[in-house]
Amino acid sequence: MDLQAIIDDIASAFAERRGEGKVADYIPELAKVDPKQFAIAITTVDGAVYTAGDAATPFSIQSISKVFMLTLALGKAGETIWQRVGREPSGSAFNSIVQLEHELGIPRNPFINAGAIVICDMVLAGYKPKEAIGELLRFVRYLADDETISIDRAVAKSETQTGFRNYALANFMRSFGNLHHDVDHVLGVYFHQCALSMTCQQLSRAGLFLAAQGADPISGYSVVSPKRARRINALMLTCGHYDGSGDFAFHVGLPGKSGVGGGILAIAPGKASIAVWSPGLNKVGNSLLGSLALEMLAARTGWSVFGA
Ligand code: GLN
Repeated sequence: MDLQAIIDDIASAFAERRGEGKVADYIPELAKVDPKQFAIAITTVDGAVYTAGDAATPFSIQSISKVFMLTLALGKAGETIWQRVGREPSGSAFNSIVQLEHELGIPRNPFINAGAIVICDMVLAGYKPKEAIGELLRFVRYLADDETISIDRAVAKSETQTGFRNYALANFMRSFGNLHHDVDHVLGVYFHQCALSMTCQQLSRAGLFLAAQGADPISGYSVVSPKRARRINALMLTCGHYDGSGDFAFHVGLPGKSGVGGGILAIAPGKASIAVWSPGLNKVGNSLLGSLALEMLAARTGWSVFGA
């Protein structure tokens, strides 16, 4: 299979449509991004890398970071995390507050904002906010084997200044006792985590352990157990696209995690880790062209967790 030819075809198929969708503007710094950018990168389990478009341009990975933070929290607290966060799709927007009251401050899953904020609270245990962010940055640099990855401070600041919803979610959960640290500290970690800036190439490399039973096939190091990798993939499949998760599974058929920066990380278990980026979002806040590009990639490669 000629993966380079496939992604070149995909990039040219969408060349005319670059800029479609709506760039997230509720975080003012994200609204400044050129909407016409488009990128795909694939890292296969045998270490080959294929890129097309703007795959070397860093972008704000936003909620894709929730996969890496969840992995850290599982490493730190193990299965006890499930006492404070669920594993069910929410069927609601990523920043929704409605279920939280009925469900006594326990968020549906670790990939909606409320769930990710609880995960930050867990990683913060025993640390200062700066140390928790440092731990995440070290982990992502290690996974991507790239020390140049950084946090975009302007994006973190922009989110801090406009994160009213996230403050509401965090305070609400704190009232139920499901946040153990200062709301400002937890959100400081959360906003910096979301402001991680990575290229598609770096992101596809960082996700590779999830395509390879939890071990990095290039370095040989184990990141998580095979069972944990399967479970993270299961959560990405069921919850990684908020109330668009069913549709993503239907059209793409791979575990995936989106972010409002327009990126998506998708995992083809046993095959490859894929990152796409196009800033324009669809109605549920997932990359419009990125989702379509992954659908085309899945169709052309036959990659699917539901059978060939
Ligand atoms: N930082 C964003 C927020 O909290 C993340 C949302 C997303 O990427 N879906 O609103």
